[in-house]
Amino acid sequence: MRVILLGPPGAGKGTQAERITKDYEIPHISTGDIFRYNIKNNTELGKLAKQYTEKGLLVPDDVTNKIVEDRLSKDDCKDGFLLDGYPRNVVQAESLGKYLENKGLKIDHVLNIIVDRDELVKRLSGRRVCPSCGATYHIVTKPPKVEGICDHCGEKLIQRTDDNIESVLKRLEVYEDETKPLVEYYGKLNLIRNIDGNKPVNEVYKEIQALIGDEV
Ligand code: AMP
Repeated sequence: MRVILLGPPGAGKGTQAERITKDYEIPHISTGDIFRYNIKNNTELGKLAKQYTEKGLLVPDDVTNKIVEDRLSKDDCKDGFLLDGYPRNVVQAESLGKYLENKGLKIDHVLNIIVDRDELVKRLSGRRVCPSCGATYHIVTKPPKVEGICDHCGEKLIQRTDDNIESVLKRLEVYEDETKPLVEYYGKLNLIRNIDGNKPVNEVYKEIQALIGDEV
């Protein structure tokens, strides 16, 4: 199964991606995670990506497309994959389409998670993450047992550098201008499956399972 997770920042793509990829046994490919890993390890790619991610801007398409193609060519993607945060604009979608077409492959579902804007701002600005195990929290809706400390590994929680209010607003603007047109793009290809992401995590997942479930 080949799936794309579409939706604004804060829609819960990462959370749902973890569940889907575990249950359906396909690799989780998050371009955001790939950039964060490289930034943390101060690689050449990380140094470049940092200049964009911190401001809430997209990393240039040629760089991003190449990273995704390299990842998709790995053996574990043979029988399927889930793309989380990619493609992010029409140029990337066309590049992915060409890559897959050359291999005789196609996307099965584009899961479009829809969440109200006010809710997104609330979710993103209150989000805290564990830099060690990647667990995510929210200061109001999902606080850790001990303030500022990860429940799982005891590490001190941090705020993502792009979860400050300026970057959040910029990322939402970039989503509206560049990523949202993909709903129409994939709609024309009959691939869009709309999901109400305002609901609790478990209910959102049930909706996703109902859409893709028979293909487990
Ligand atoms: P995310 O974790 O998906 O919200 O991504 C965090 C940041 O990484 C984004 O705000 C962008 O700066 C960058 N990024 C992630 N995916 C892409 C992509 N497909 N194209 C360009 N930049 C991306």
